[in-house]
Amino acid sequence: MAEVTLEAFGVHWFRRDLRVSGNLALKWNLQKTQGRTLGVFFFDSKFLSRPDFSHHRFGFFLQSLKALKTELRQRGGDLWVIDKPPEEGFKWIFSGVSQLPTHVSWNRDYEPFARARDARMLQLFDKEGIQVHTERDHLVIEPHELVKESSDSPFYKVYTPFAKKWGSIFLGQEIQKRIHAQKEALEELEKRDRGQELERDFRLRWDSLHENFKSKENVRDALEDFIQENQKRLTIPLPPAGSLAAFRAVKEFLPKLPRYLEDRDYPAVSGTSKLSIYFKNGSLTPALFLSYVDLAGTHLSQKNGKSQFFKELIWREFYYHILYHRPEVENEAFLTRYKDLEWSNQNRWFEAWKRGQTGYPIVDAGMRQLSTTGWMHNRVRMIVASFLTKDLLIDWQWGEKYFMNQLLDGDLAPNNGGWQWAASTGCDPQPYFRIFNPTLQGKKFDPRGEYIRKFVPELKKKSDKEIHQPSSGYVEPIVDHALQRQRALALFRKLPPKNA
Ligand code: FAD
Repeated sequence: MAEVTLEAFGVHWFRRDLRVSGNLALKWNLQKTQGRTLGVFFFDSKFLSRPDFSHHRFGFFLQSLKALKTELRQRGGDLWVIDKPPEEGFKWIFSGVSQLPTHVSWNRDYEPFARARDARMLQLFDKEGIQVHTERDHLVIEPHELVKESSDSPFYKVYTPFAKKWGSIFLGQEIQKRIHAQKEALEELEKRDRGQELERDFRLRWDSLHENFKSKENVRDALEDFIQENQKRLTIPLPPAGSLAAFRAVKEFLPKLPRYLEDRDYPAVSGTSKLSIYFKNGSLTPALFLSYVDLAGTHLSQKNGKSQFFKELIWREFYYHILYHRPEVENEAFLTRYKDLEWSNQNRWFEAWKRGQTGYPIVDAGMRQLSTTGWMHNRVRMIVASFLTKDLLIDWQWGEKYFMNQLLDGDLAPNNGGWQWAASTGCDPQPYFRIFNPTLQGKKFDPRGEYIRKFVPELKKKSDKEIHQPSSGYVEPIVDHALQRQRALALFRKLPPKNA
């Protein structure tokens, strides 16, 4: 095959930043290569057989990749989805082209696995003399930027002081400049929303390099194969994917923002944003959201919708900071004194919890919302997690894995943080004796039983009062809350009070 001499080109490695507008690492690459930037995404199909793998979340991810590919092509660019792990994949690309890319870019990730992988990749590119550029993307403030100035611990273990410090850094020039930089992205999204075409700022397609590979068959894009294969395993409808869908979801949520503080805890009310699924894969970032929503004059100490929403975004960042500074929480309790809790781990109870057959209506409604929609309301996530750990005495890691297996927004840091919070093994100043009473939680947050009726139709005809009772008749309650509460307290009391 004749060797083709290429002009310099760059590769942007997409990971959890599936959008073009406001993607600063991609923009850097485009500028450096005068538009000759190609997009690549690696996925190793071996992951498909992992027990905690979510076909639903993967399905949504694939749709997001498809939307990204369309977006890139409309702007003259391209995306290639390769069925290989990144190290192997990059080496394979390099072996097939007559000239290596001059620039490689990506947006930073903070999960332990990703950090180790990226360090290895840097070495590979360095060896080849390729210029690498990385950017922050899915966090507003990165973990190394928010550290304690003088203390025994270099990082914040408690949310409130963390949020205070976060708020002061946020108002500084550097972060405000970054938020402002997203305005251009908003203009692009507005244009696309109106059906207008964007400038063709990319000037290269993978086909022009493919000629250099030995066999055309080898350069097959795996995206459509993945979509078709995964389709067979989907049992829930997927929401619209991609950056435009995410932008539209932001717009849809904005009229609800003034009432967010009042509505956010009631699962029967559609009062939250459901943006977590887009934050997860980077079709949307908190910075983009914050540049769209005018937060001027909003203070964290205020009690209103904007301020509360802001606080929730900070919770997300908080859990990322914890994971960054204590990567071992992925596999063990944040409070090391609770590493060896003797959970009962009864399989029969775990199965009943998963199927929404515990006999506790609000718990069952939540678990059925999860398995039929791939999402669960935050209040109910807290209730079902408390129930699994404190009523069924099952290890929080079982629940954490099951959530990862089901959630469209399944995300290591907030999921791990949420589970450890509920199990009282995490970074929460509240002690272990905060145990939710599922019946009272149901009465308080679903007072008319509307959420329960929607997901547990067996209870449709029950009165608003009866509907919350564990003895309401559709299935025998598997445990007695009062008794299990005592057992949970005893379980925690068995361990020494403080060593962490
Ligand atoms: P909104 O109320 O609209 O909040 C806006 C955004 O703030 C969310 O999209 C999310 O990014 C962030 N946020 C809100 N609440 C929290 C919180 N408690 N902790 C961290 N970030 C928050 N969130 C995930 O994104 N992925 C998970 O895998 C996940 N697992 C969880 C497991 C448990 C046991 C618990 C208690 C919480 C979990 N959360 C998780 C946090 C929270 O439940 C979801 O972020 C929220 O329900 C998403 O819905 P929303 O976008 O409508 O939230």
